[in-house]
Amino acid sequence: MPVERSDRGVDELYKYYEVYETIGSGGFAKVKLGQHILTGEKVAIKIIDKKELGDDLPRVKLEIDAMKNLSHQHVCRLYHVIETSSRIYMVLEYCPGGELFDYIIAKDRLSEEETRVFFRQIVSALAYVHSQGYAHRDLKPENLLIDEDRNLKLIDFGLCAKPKGGLGYELMTCCGSPAYAAPELIQGRAYIGSEADVWSMGVLLFALLCGYLPFDDDNCMILYRKIMRGQYDNPPWLSPGTVLLLNQMMQVEPKRRVTVRQLLDHPWMMKDYNSPVEWHTKQPLGHIDDDCITEMAVNMKCSRKSATQLVKEWRYDQTTATYLLLLYKKQRGKPVRLRPDQLLCDTPVRSPLHQGPQSKQVLHYSEDEDAVLMGSVDLCSDYDDDGPWVPVRQRTPQGGRGRPDGAANPTHKDMIPPSYPVENWRVRGPTPEKEGITPHHRQERREKGRTNENKENIAVLDKDLEIFALPAPPTPASNKKNGRSNNKNVLTTPTQIANTRVAKTVTPKGSGSASKELSRKKAVEKEALEIQILAFSPERRSRSLDMAGTGDSGQKKRAGKVFGSLERGLDKVITMLTPSKKRGLRDGPRRIKAQYNVTLTSQTNPDQVLNQILSILPEKHIDFTQKGYTLKCRTRGDFGKVTMAFELEVCVLQRPEVVAVRRQRLKGDAWVYKHLVEDILSTSSI
Ligand code: ADP
Repeated sequence: MPVERSDRGVDELYKYYEVYETIGSGGFAKVKLGQHILTGEKVAIKIIDKKELGDDLPRVKLEIDAMKNLSHQHVCRLYHVIETSSRIYMVLEYCPGGELFDYIIAKDRLSEEETRVFFRQIVSALAYVHSQGYAHRDLKPENLLIDEDRNLKLIDFGLCAKPKGGLGYELMTCCGSPAYAAPELIQGRAYIGSEADVWSMGVLLFALLCGYLPFDDDNCMILYRKIMRGQYDNPPWLSPGTVLLLNQMMQVEPKRRVTVRQLLDHPWMMKDYNSPVEWHTKQPLGHIDDDCITEMAVNMKCSRKSATQLVKEWRYDQTTATYLLLLYKKQRGKPVRLRPDQLLCDTPVRSPLHQGPQSKQVLHYSEDEDAVLMGSVDLCSDYDDDGPWVPVRQRTPQGGRGRPDGAANPTHKDMIPPSYPVENWRVRGPTPEKEGITPHHRQERREKGRTNENKENIAVLDKDLEIFALPAPPTPASNKKNGRSNNKNVLTTPTQIANTRVAKTVTPKGSGSASKELSRKKAVEKEALEIQILAFSPERRSRSLDMAGTGDSGQKKRAGKVFGSLERGLDKVITMLTPSKKRGLRDGPRRIKAQYNVTLTSQTNPDQVLNQILSILPEKHIDFTQKGYTLKCRTRGDFGKVTMAFELEVCVLQRPEVVAVRRQRLKGDAWVYKHLVEDILSTSSI
């Protein structure tokens, strides 16, 4: 099977999708919002850098294979896989409601009734996943996303296992997140995947009902001891039925643990429902929908039979994506229509990853690197590169700007998750850093815990506790490192930056000499590129300059790729600097509606709130960059690796008119993030 040429792979992505801002980041991947041009549907694009993956590449192969085999109403759907020589793009069902984790912390904890709604969906997903022979092995609220109908979708199958002899066969690899890991896993014993998943579901259930973890400690060994003893405290608000269920799920001895089958009609699950959990798929892979086929056949100008045959190949290419997205539209009562001016038939670019569910093909990858395209740089540079709500690269089929459906480019409003019951995120007192252990430690520990995992179908690895061992104390990330002593000045005069940039942008427009057109064009393209980088973030600017140092041609290529013509280049820069699209350059804070991830303050002056937060960040060893009223915050580990990233944005609520802080986790351990942001906000005394 030939390796797909790298640039073709990237082109394939841009040919079929518009790619917008980063919406999440995991151990290996960066996830961006996208839009499938032909159907107009939003998608999530998971971008995995093969180089960063190294030996873990088979994990991605495993995740892709698993997701191709899984089609269920509570499992995130895979639509399309694109492989280049350096990257893998997984196009996924987009879940705009964010992580269940954020939902829990927004509400502090959930009622038993609401928990039951979610937990029935979790049990449904797991019963299905297990029925297909998989154990998930990384169940936690961060891996459950909320879709636009407030339904849960299970994600992140990178640590899943499908034992060759069936799920009853024992596994050895210790993996997952320590706080959710079953005792038999952390002891390094052989274990049954489904039993370990039930334990994690017990921890998850506890977290939903209590807003904190049943087993938690900054000291790893103490944490393991607690898990191995199975000791946790039941808070007084738990009903006797809940206490019983938790006890049945978090049994140290796996054989005494309740099974997923038993959970389906467990009295606790049945309460208020009077029916067992429905776990069978409502989206069987074998069923082909007539309406979708008809629409595709019309578009491709072929017979319905040919269209059906093409879809049934399940190549996870544009055909699969189009079919599944059309089906998704239909299921939500939207018209089963494709854009008439877009053709599907020039589709198949057959990557080695485009194999049907039964394929035995191994993931194919080559040694040669991509030519560095601007698009690739944007997509995969450290996730601190891009400003949210600014499309990374928008391209209509006509090469112009804007969305394929003619709608405006996404604004912040588009990105706001569906309205949850609005509640403030309660800010508790500062979380003391116990025994000198900072959030960095915990995050590092988690990352370490995820290293060398999931070789279940590949090779049996270390099974002792070592992978969860506590790392050496980190050197606190220094704010000086980035020379941010002037941050406060930047804060109070955001418009100055904007003016400088706009002035730069406007200059090339006055160019007149035709003979110097070519060199001017190059200069403008280069400048435009620099301005773009500036506009996106100062962090990325330094990175890009470093890259420029590695060779001129690479940069020219990037510039040329993005700005195919002078006009387009200027257009693009002007678009990027349009105040409505560039939050960072606005004069005042954004006015937003209350959302679940917004904390209200008691203050009326946004600058004061911003200054208070800014003065706290260095104290907490938090690195940050500032764009207007948005702070992109990061913590770093021992070797400067970003361990946690999140945004804090000072904004003004529309009703009631108060200053608020919007927060969003982009990377890192969810609980560490929770404590850290609580700490920042409470210490800032806002
Ligand atoms: P990794 O495999 O590297 O851990 P994940 O698959 O967990 O990456 O994705 C990282 C984050 O990206 C998630 O925690 C979530 O916030 C976001 N994300 C992932 N998939 C989607 C999706 N389908 N829709 C919306 N956000 C997503």
